[in-house]
Amino acid sequence: MKLHEYQAKDVFADAGIPTPGSALATSVDEVVEMASDLGYPVAVKAQVHVGGRGKAGGIKLADDAEEARAAAEDILGMDLKGYTVDKVLVEEAVDFTDELYVGVTMDRGEGKPVAMVSSKGGVNIEEVAEESPEAIARVHVDPSFGMHPYQARKAVYDAGVPDEVALDVAGVLQTLYQLWEDRDASDIEVNPLMVTADGDVVAADAVMNIDDDALFRQPELAELEEESYEDDLERKASEYGFDYVRLDGNVGIIGNGAGLVMTTLDLVDYYGGEPANFLDIGGGAKAERVANALDMVFADPNVDAIVFNIFGGITRGDEVAKGINEALDQFDEIPKPVVVRLAGTNAEEGREILNDELVTVEETLEDAVKRSVENAAEVEA
Ligand code: GDP
Ligand code: MN
Repeated sequence: MKLHEYQAKDVFADAGIPTPGSALATSVDEVVEMASDLGYPVAVKAQVHVGGRGKAGGIKLADDAEEARAAAEDILGMDLKGYTVDKVLVEEAVDFTDELYVGVTMDRGEGKPVAMVSSKGGVNIEEVAEESPEAIARVHVDPSFGMHPYQARKAVYDAGVPDEVALDVAGVLQTLYQLWEDRDASDIEVNPLMVTADGDVVAADAVMNIDDDALFRQPELAELEEESYEDDLERKASEYGFDYVRLDGNVGIIGNGAGLVMTTLDLVDYYGGEPANFLDIGGGAKAERVANALDMVFADPNVDAIVFNIFGGITRGDEVAKGINEALDQFDEIPKPVVVRLAGTNAEEGREILNDELVTVEETLEDAVKRSVENAAEVEA
């Protein structure tokens, strides 16, 4: 579960990390009103679950009411990488001299959390990570001891953070680690952590993702979840009980089982296509679930073609095939070409049941994926 910037900033501020004064707004008038309460200049920031909002035009600075109005008009309602912006954070603009990066995540290779610090924070941190990884200092933490103060100081020193804020940054890093542990975060990040002209540090951005499997013991954070569904499809997926992740491509992918879906994603990529989503309908894929999954993927405007990869186990292939037929019968015309690959228990019966006027049936996964990639390319052409 992802928190919005404004939600994560509340959590950070409660833990003692300095954040700019701010307010959430959903209309242009509200933005102008809140900006004048906060005092100019302000930053107007889209609250959607995407990174790189700055570069995509989702963040604007305003020096007066006229500029605030213009910024709000531009950002509210805009489409930011597939998400419609319906709320913005209005925030005191920070007068900064440096942009730092601090974050905590899980290093699966080491089997330990890792804290990271860089003095090259800001909108280009991905490039920094790729081109000069040595500019990001890392320290692994043994979760049974927590982060020792000297570890935080060493990371800050290694990163070459300006002396006058070094201890403050070390303090922020320790607080972030503690939050990561206490709140069951999977990732937590402040980028940029701004160094102000007065020599203070302020969290100008905030990222906090919570481990879904731990939400049951984070009731306060779980409550924020409804609010944080930006995307109708993600909300739908959660209602249906599907595991769903939206991606950037145009080939819709449905399967029963996480590994099977991952394999399908890899193959779509291998054959030159781009996956539009990860959608695992889980075991026991009865007709209704199949129909719900198809509905979801049909409803995604980015999807041009669909590949359905089913391995019949406890749920038999014929059962799934009936589900697909039933789901497709609801449509006068199939909105997007569907390719089905059925294997496992009763696969042959299933393939016979499938209405091949409505779907293309392929025996192998490779053929099914290739066909769906071709279908998508044809729609695009
Ligand atoms: P992201 O692009 O989604 O990561 O959004 P950020 O909140 O990190 O903002 C991107 C960039 O906008 C920052 O690196 C800053 O350069 C700039 N920015 C954001 N907030 C402020 C602010 O309060 N004052 C100033 N001067 N710049 C800001
Ligand atoms: Mn950022």
